[in-house]
Parts: sequence; C-alpha cells; structure tokens
Amino acid sequence: MGLKIGIALGLGIVLLLLAQGLSLLFGPKARAAERSRIRVRLCREIRALRFEGPELWIDGLRRYLQPATGGLAILVEEAKKEGAPPGLRIENGGQEYRLPLASLHLQWKGPARIRLGKEKTWRRLFGSLQLLRRGGGWVPNLRIDMELYLSGVLHEEMGAHFPLEALRAQAIAARSYALSCIARSGSRSFDLYGDDRSQVFHEVSEEPRILEAIRLSLGQTLTYGGSTLRAYYHSTCGGRTRDGYLRFRDVPRDALPPVVCDFCKASPLYRWTRKIPKKALQGAGIAVRGETPGFEVLQRSPRGDWERLRIKGGGRTSAPFSARLLRKLGSLPSLWIQSQTYRKGVFVLRGRGFGHGVGLCQWGARGQALLGRSAKEILSFYFPRAKLRIP
Ligand SMILES: [Zn+2]
Repeated sequence: MGLKIGIALGLGIVLLLLAQGLSLLFGPKARAAERSRIRVRLCREIRALRFEGPELWIDGLRRYLQPATGGLAILVEEAKKEGAPPGLRIENGGQEYRLPLASLHLQWKGPARIRLGKEKTWRRLFGSLQLLRRGGGWVPNLRIDMELYLSGVLHEEMGAHFPLEALRAQAIAARSYALSCIARSGSRSFDLYGDDRSQVFHEVSEEPRILEAIRLSLGQTLTYGGSTLRAYYHSTCGGRTRDGYLRFRDVPRDALPPVVCDFCKASPLYRWTRKIPKKALQGAGIAVRGETPGFEVLQRSPRGDWERLRIKGGGRTSAPFSARLLRKLGSLPSLWIQSQTYRKGVFVLRGRGFGHGVGLCQWGARGQALLGRSAKEILSFYFPRAKLRIP
C-alpha cells in the first residue's frame, strides 16, 4: 500500500514537472518571443512507421484516425504480382486501409510517440511529419517548433548534467547554427539532418535544466556582420580552437577566429592515446615498409592538425593519403596529433581534443560555467567577433 502511494505520488510529481516544464516553453512569455519552425530529416529511408498519440491527420486518406491501443502502423506493402508497383498499408486496431505508395503528410496536435523503421525506441515528437517517397520507402522530414527542437539537440549534444550557463550558451549556438541552415536550405525539402552531419536530434527533451536553459535564451542568436552566425561547436578543443573559415569555408573569413582555451582540462579527451595496427593501414591499401616505419606529415592546419601524410620506412615512402583515413581506422577523437611511436606492428598516437575544433568548446563552456561565468561571457570568449542578439 505504502509503495503504491509512493509510486502514485512520484508519478504525480513527474507529471506536474512535465506540465510545468512544457508550460515554460509554451506559456505566454514564450509565445511572445520570436518563434520559428525547422524541418529536420530524421533518418535515412524507412519502410514502416508506428504512431501512438492524439488523433492523426493523414492527407492520403483525407481523414483523421484515432490511433488504437498499441499504435497505428503505416507500412510499405510489396505487390503480390510480379512487376506491379508496391503499395502502402495502414493498420489501426482491427482496421486496414490500402493506398498506392506515395508521399504522405501526417499532422497531429501535442506530443506523440513515433517509431521509425527498425528503430527499437519510441521518439517523443511534436509537429508534423512529411514522408517523402524515396526508393521503395520514405524519408521522414519533421516540421517542429524551433525551441522544442533545441531541447532535443541540447540533450544529445551536451546533456542535462552540464551546468545551466553552459547549456544556455549551447542553446544560443545551436539556435544560431539551425537558423543559418534554414537560410541556406533553398529549395530542399528539409533544413538540416538529425544526425552529426548537422546537429544530433532524436526527440523532444523534458529535462528541467534543459528546458530552463532554453527558456532563459528564448530566440537569442549570435550574429556577425548583420547575419546569423553559423555558430559551430565541438566537444573539446584540447587547448586551442581552430579558425572556422580555414576549416569549413562556409563562414565569412574573420567570423570564427581561433582562441586559446584551457578551460576544457576536465574533459576525458583533453589528451588521449590511440593505437593503429600496421595491418589496418595495409588493409586500406597503404604501403607500410621497414622495421620502424613512421608518419611523415606533408600538410598541417595552422593549429597543427594532421591533414596529408605518407609513411616512411625501409628507405621508401608510401603514396600520400588524407589524415581522415587515420581518424577512421583508429577511431581518433581529433587529428591534432602531437606524438607518434611504433612498436611491434602498432602505431601509437597521442593527441589533443575531440571534434573539429571550431567555435564553442563544450567542455570549455562547462569549465567556465563552473567558475561562475555567464552564458554571455562564455559566448563572447568563443565567438569574440559575434554579437548576441536578444529579441
Ligand atoms: Zn577548450
């Protein structure tokens, strides 16, 4: 009995917190702020989708369906006759609907739980979903409120265990990056990817500290030269960030200058060691000869990141190759490599930092927040040429 009351009380508190958290984002103050929507390509091609939640509008059916217990499923149905086109089947409780396989638009109000393709977990999503026909299935584009989207980005890219001011700085950087993607999407059907090609987004977060960081930074962005700054960020710079123009070429020349940062020392990848067996390089078609081969760096970034290499050994050299190959073969956190040794068929590399090194250093933002610095101070440290725009 006591346990049941405890569970009921606990559940009640959780529900109350959720309602409060979301009202922070949907309340009158939030509504008054500048809001925009963003289109996120959630994943690659899928052939099935399951939906649990409120009434769902399916434009192909031209009607609303109330999802049955266990959810509503939309599936690709292979043609029974050879050569006939595939169709789609909607299953809801005991009811079935069949349509030609087409692009679909799904709309609902409030939160829903959606399972995409073969994914094992449900995603809590708001907004509307465009399923665009691709090959024998669909690619899903979610259209969602910017601030709800950012809650999911903060969860994936930083995590609620980071200090509030670091999360707040991250929210402003991620919002600016997202808006710069919208400005560049042109005639594409989506603005950015939900994976590390853009910013990782899985589902809307309900963590109170993340919602608080978003509420405190609602609509705030970084600008440079009057435009929204493409505010790159990464995990750990390792001591110095990189020039954004030299690294990505898609920002103005002086917009993202390098800065010296020693605030990220607590990062597990401030310094690191990785091993790459000789055989892995040979398997990738690189010649490794002699008793004590070593990498010769042909090209470096101004910070010192390896860019182009060859291997010297036995009086000969391999053909030149991109340092990115090393990153892949050895799961290297970065290419800022500071020393190399070779022993018994294995190269041992020691390096600094994690990620591309441009813009905000997340572990550095954490370090600065723990010293009592505000989000504004953190941002002006990593983006010294940008302005903070408060709507
Ligand atoms: Zn750093």
